[in-house]
Amino acid sequence: MPPSPLRSLLAAVGLAPKPSAIRADAAPAQAPGDAPSLSLSAAEWQQRLSPAQFHVLREEGTERPHSSALNREKRAGVYACAGCGTALFSSEMKFDSGTGWPSFFTTLPSVFATTTDYQLIFPRTEYHCACCGGHHGHVFNDGPAPTGHRYCNNGVALTFHPAD
Ligand SMILES: [Zn+2]
Repeated sequence: MPPSPLRSLLAAVGLAPKPSAIRADAAPAQAPGDAPSLSLSAAEWQQRLSPAQFHVLREEGTERPHSSALNREKRAGVYACAGCGTALFSSEMKFDSGTGWPSFFTTLPSVFATTTDYQLIFPRTEYHCACCGGHHGHVFNDGPAPTGHRYCNNGVALTFHPAD
């Protein structure tokens, strides 16, 4: 049996997870460009997620700024999708943007797909999990070096897995 995608990604970023930190029900990853491999009904997502997680991940909601404990998370580890368990960011990719949302200057490879949304007057680039389609946040071009990107992520859409 091949190693799970999350374990492979954790190994790729040099972080050894506790076995208990890995969701037993994590969905398999997929090649970028494919349809989401984890496709559930709204009722199934409602069972699986908290109301706040459902609002962000499945209804493209936005949590209140400064409401997530992950804003202050400084430990080494991996941030995974709260919907499907796919590893999305490592702690090395996080920076303090001061915006009140967990912020990252890059992502693990091929974990997100993007769309342009017009919920505000100006268009924004929305990004969502390539595995389950769950909405995570918006990416802006005012981030730090080396990428200049700022992935502004809802904390409630993430689960944090410390490295030790
Ligand atoms: Zn996901």
